[in-house]
Amino acid sequence: MKAEILKVLRECGDYVSGQQLCEQLQVSRTAVWKVINQLKEEGYEVEAIRNKGYRITSSPDIITKEELASRLDTEWAGQEIYYFDEIDSTNTKARQLADQGAPHGTLVVADCQHAGRGRRGRVWESPKGKNIYMTLLLRPEFSPDKASMLTLVMALSVYEGLKETVDLDLKIKWPNDLVCGKKKVVGILTEMSTEIDYINHVVIGTGVNVNLEELPDEIKDMATSLLLESGGKQKRSAIISAVLKHFEKNYETFIKTCDLSELQEQYNHILINKDQEVQILGEKEVYTAHALGINEKGELLIRKEDGSIVAIYAGEVSVRGLYGYVS
Ligand code: ATP
Repeated sequence: MKAEILKVLRECGDYVSGQQLCEQLQVSRTAVWKVINQLKEEGYEVEAIRNKGYRITSSPDIITKEELASRLDTEWAGQEIYYFDEIDSTNTKARQLADQGAPHGTLVVADCQHAGRGRRGRVWESPKGKNIYMTLLLRPEFSPDKASMLTLVMALSVYEGLKETVDLDLKIKWPNDLVCGKKKVVGILTEMSTEIDYINHVVIGTGVNVNLEELPDEIKDMATSLLLESGGKQKRSAIISAVLKHFEKNYETFIKTCDLSELQEQYNHILINKDQEVQILGEKEVYTAHALGINEKGELLIRKEDGSIVAIYAGEVSVRGLYGYVS
């Protein structure tokens, strides 16, 4: 009921009478009054004026289940939400929930991670109260070889969601990061459980550095936050709901063809590596090439120094600029 009251108050933007809340939500006056008090305790500012009703004047930067549910504008993404103050990793939790039968679209969010992960076992720095750590659980019906493209679908969706909330020049670094300038603000990690010919589940974890004022020394040179770049604080819940809205739309587009043919152009348009010289860090070799953009399978097309054009698959390599992380 808390989420519903929040939603009504937020969407109205003006005073809503206690009577109206009671009738709309079929609850008692006392129940409404209790929820309003809980909201105040959580940091929401709610004006209560006799004969007029309640009005929300500000909300805290929290990402609780109710706060998110009150903002979501989706059909299935985030219709079930698990929020944790602290957790090892939202991806790990989502995988456990998947094994227990959690439905397609389940969202796991946390205010802090103790064991946040990047690709190939790398650490994702996850301090408390400032950033977004979220994982979306999917149960796709397409074959396992298509699933890695979902990382790119999420990257595009995070880009579009952030564009709605913050005015920054963001770009995608293939395949799974968003950068601002030459530094990383978003990382995405897709993991899955599959059988030979079908997918049990896919989890897509997204970390966004939002209101972080200072980055740990180890990543200072190659990472940044929305706050550091824009100078302003952002509401994390608004970002999450915008990202989910875009993901849902892009996912529906993706499953029409089970490839990126309809999303490729948008992705390439904001791809920082496009038409750039890049270093390809493979497992055994490192070489320089000219990146052309992604194909409909989400592979990066590169022109090697001998003139040959090849498609590289994200699972095998990392891409860097010639002199640094991006360029
Ligand atoms: P590659 O391009 O080689 O795959 P990546 O940049 O995609 O690398 P990920 O595995 O996605 O790397 O993320 C882990 C890396 O990101 C860490 O090794 C660290 O360098 C960096 N990192 C860790 N925490 C953060 C953070 N909160 N913000 C930005 N970057 C981070």
